[in-house]
Amino acid sequence: MSKVVAGLMVKGARVVLDDAEALLKKAINEKGSIAKIGFPETAFYLPLANALLGLEIKTLADADKALSTAKTLIPAIPSEEKWDTYLKDGLNSGVAAILAEEIICALRYLYGEEPQPDCPGFFSDTILRALGIQLVDGRISGIGVILGKAPDAKTAVEIVRDLQKRNILTLVGGSVDGVSIIDQLKEGGLQMGLESYVVPFGRDTISVVYVLNFAIRAALTFGGIKAGNTKACVDYVRERVPAFVLLLGGVDEVKAATGAGALAAGVPIITDLDLPEVRVPGVCAHEECLVKESDHKKIVQKAIEARGIKIKVAKVPIPVPFSAAFEGERVRKADMYVQFGGKYSPAFEYLKMKKSDEVEDGHIDVIGPEIDLMKEGDSVPLGIVVEVAGRKMSVDFEPILERQIHKFLNYAMGVFHMGQRDMNWVRISKEAHKAGFKIHHIGEILIAKLHDEYGAIVDKVQVKIYTKEADVKKLIPEAKSSFDSRDERLAGMTDESVDTFYSCTLCQSFAPDHVCIVSPERLGLCGAYSWLDAKAAHEITPTGGNQPIKKGKVIDEKKGIWEGVNKFVYDNSHQKTSEMTVYSLMESPMTSCGCFECIVAIVPEANGVMVVNREYSGETPAGMKFTTLASTVGGGSQTPGFLGVGRLYITSKKFISSDGGLARIVWMPKELKEALADRLKKRCVEIGQGDLFERIADETVTTDAAKLVEYLQKVGHPALSMPPMM
Ligand code: SF4
Repeated sequence: MSKVVAGLMVKGARVVLDDAEALLKKAINEKGSIAKIGFPETAFYLPLANALLGLEIKTLADADKALSTAKTLIPAIPSEEKWDTYLKDGLNSGVAAILAEEIICALRYLYGEEPQPDCPGFFSDTILRALGIQLVDGRISGIGVILGKAPDAKTAVEIVRDLQKRNILTLVGGSVDGVSIIDQLKEGGLQMGLESYVVPFGRDTISVVYVLNFAIRAALTFGGIKAGNTKACVDYVRERVPAFVLLLGGVDEVKAATGAGALAAGVPIITDLDLPEVRVPGVCAHEECLVKESDHKKIVQKAIEARGIKIKVAKVPIPVPFSAAFEGERVRKADMYVQFGGKYSPAFEYLKMKKSDEVEDGHIDVIGPEIDLMKEGDSVPLGIVVEVAGRKMSVDFEPILERQIHKFLNYAMGVFHMGQRDMNWVRISKEAHKAGFKIHHIGEILIAKLHDEYGAIVDKVQVKIYTKEADVKKLIPEAKSSFDSRDERLAGMTDESVDTFYSCTLCQSFAPDHVCIVSPERLGLCGAYSWLDAKAAHEITPTGGNQPIKKGKVIDEKKGIWEGVNKFVYDNSHQKTSEMTVYSLMESPMTSCGCFECIVAIVPEANGVMVVNREYSGETPAGMKFTTLASTVGGGSQTPGFLGVGRLYITSKKFISSDGGLARIVWMPKELKEALADRLKKRCVEIGQGDLFERIADETVTTDAAKLVEYLQKVGHPALSMPPMM
């Protein structure tokens, strides 16, 4: 590393440390050393200090201790002739700087100065988990952090569009000479937000710490690494978090120190500045640590190569950009050219399997007016019928492929899709229309993507798109009757009706010892993989993360223990888990990776369990918020009494059936209870406890365990008279 760069890093770290010290001193004077400090919705306190130093910073006094430790990391500025330790000095300074920056940001929260305007501020554990799932399933191929400013708004938008096209989550912030990339993107009309994979983190350099403490939490959350195991945390980020920094427009000492912090965490930096490059093995995933690229059209590609990110971009013959990064972009009314369905016109979408000779591969028929015959602002009927044929295709796969229509159409920039079946809603933006997007292109997208992602089961695809009201209305009853028979068929599937379950080990990229066992009556804990999904995924990629597991000899039918399942779990958990029950919370429960939609946790006082969903940020009768519970459950380990689950498992007949099932639920957040109300009420009737639904408490009743027991006694909840859970 050059003397100039290392010198800037050391000086920058001193500046940040001094700032942090002064702010902390002021806060202690004004609020007292026992005043609480922290970030919202995390179980990891100040995550960098927690991961790298093993400290649980809860008060200003704790922060003071962390700052003292950070100070010891800053080296003296070496003399002219002793600049051979540049790299080590630079990286240590970086660690000190980001620890101090984290304290500054936490102090800002204490004073109500965060989040900054238009920026979400600290990324909660919930956001971390949601994005973790997308990294695992490939919707996000990497994380790009842009710090500074582009030469102009147009270039800023072009760089970000380039990242979006490659499915890279882009976090933007910082500024140079008072100009921030955030404002350049706003000026260029780019939609920002988590749903469009472009998230502003703050207009000053130190806000980049939100990105770094987000990355390091992946090690604690998904990797199951213990706080304070600095090397393991950094190794995890370097090897498993595909992130890089684009440093644009200028560098000062604070940026240099913060950049050094990123490097110390294994995140390479690519810059348009004329800085001496740093190429050293062992710091980042490859030898590229600090790399230059002055051509903004090539800088994204350079970053991808430097970080070694594998990108899969589908070639879809449409006139607008196409990638998962556009999935969450909405088309607002003011930007809309034409819309279909929703509450505005009749619409449906339906995918069906046909015989091979009934499908002409690649054929698209638009039956009715094309977009050229529609006026701006029109609401038009729409029927999308996708017909597929394939030797390995099965009617069971129809709903899985049909569900992809939503995802695939949203990938097109300027196309918005919501809902499914006969409750779909599609909008095409003025911009997409201007670029030449037509109704016909809906067919192009579906054909290209079904071949691309489901080529192993789909040999031929044809699409018919109806835009005349009479046709759409005539076809809706036929589609509806297929939906009904499909639902009946799926409802009849039980664990007993199959001899094979499926594994899912996709999350091993984050939680190396975790194995999900997916059965017809228990979906994967992220909620994304049902038994049929896993079966289809296995057909598509026979050597992938979804493998068939012959249940084999029954060891305990009630608890759900089979020889074949145990052997598979043992072999695939690196021999960490030797027994797994499929239906018990208390005995050898399934491992949890960190992606769970909900946590089931024992409430001993009530002889029952509570279920809390990750969207719920309040207190629970277990005395822990979701984020704290999640930190004890995840990481691929078994935690008797605690279990990560998918939402729909709660209404399965096999829901902790060995421990008493649904009748054990004593508390759940109101939102979750309401979202599952119809299914829950049906299950309550099935188990002969028709009024159980009303007896389950929520946060409007209490979040205190003792008061919960009083309530349960008052309403006569069955859990109180069931056999003891422990
Ligand atoms: S099913 Fe399990 S392993 Fe697979 S993606 Fe979901 S949580 Fe991860």
